[in-house]
Amino acid sequence: MSIATRLDKLRATLPEGVELVAVSKFHPAERLMEAYRAGQRVFGESRPQEMAAKHDELPADIRWHMIGHLQTNKVKMIAPFVARIDSVDSARLIDEIDRQALRCGRCIEILLEVHVADEQTKSGWDIDDLRDYIASGALTGKSGIRVRGLMSIATNTDDEQIIRRDFGRVQALFEEFRPLFGSDFDTLSLGMSDDWPLAIEYGSTAVRIGTAIFGAREY
Ligand SMILES: *Cc1c(COP(=O)(O)O)cnc(C)c1O
Repeated sequence: MSIATRLDKLRATLPEGVELVAVSKFHPAERLMEAYRAGQRVFGESRPQEMAAKHDELPADIRWHMIGHLQTNKVKMIAPFVARIDSVDSARLIDEIDRQALRCGRCIEILLEVHVADEQTKSGWDIDDLRDYIASGALTGKSGIRVRGLMSIATNTDDEQIIRRDFGRVQALFEEFRPLFGSDFDTLSLGMSDDWPLAIEYGSTAVRIGTAIFGAREY
């Protein structure tokens, strides 16, 4: 099946208003261009260097989303153009994104990544730490960032009940935080190729889909 056909099928099944982030990490620019020609404009990448190279090569109206763990010393590589950083998981990273955005005269959208999965290795804020951070007021007055919502990755398992538990926790937190942030805080990014229909049930407004569009990645 071609990339265009896969995109068409996805778009036909995704509910209206759910943002499709085409996760293009590890795929060459020509494959992204196929998706672009089929109308896709939002792409997710996990490595700053790869994203910057693709940004230089591909059309300027693409919205680039960083979805992978981002080291603070790599922020400046993507700050001039990145549309949204979905994987923001520390206070230090927030400070650096704010600083680099202001240096570029920009305001960068961010999602706060929440850790709910059983795996220790997955990045993201511990829920209580994130509550404390927000309550501390550290986010106020940062004009280089705009907090758009939450992102999370569910446990990697075939057990649907565990994935539901994970998504349910993030959805509850999203509802808890909403009144604190106001109308800018409208994005809940849950769901990947294997679990996105479940994510929709838990209120996801954005899905990050790689394999179901581009096929398997070659690492
Ligand atoms: C790679 C990746 C995805 C896409 O995964 P697929 O299973 O290929 O759809 C989604 N989110 C994050 C954070 C990723 O790193």
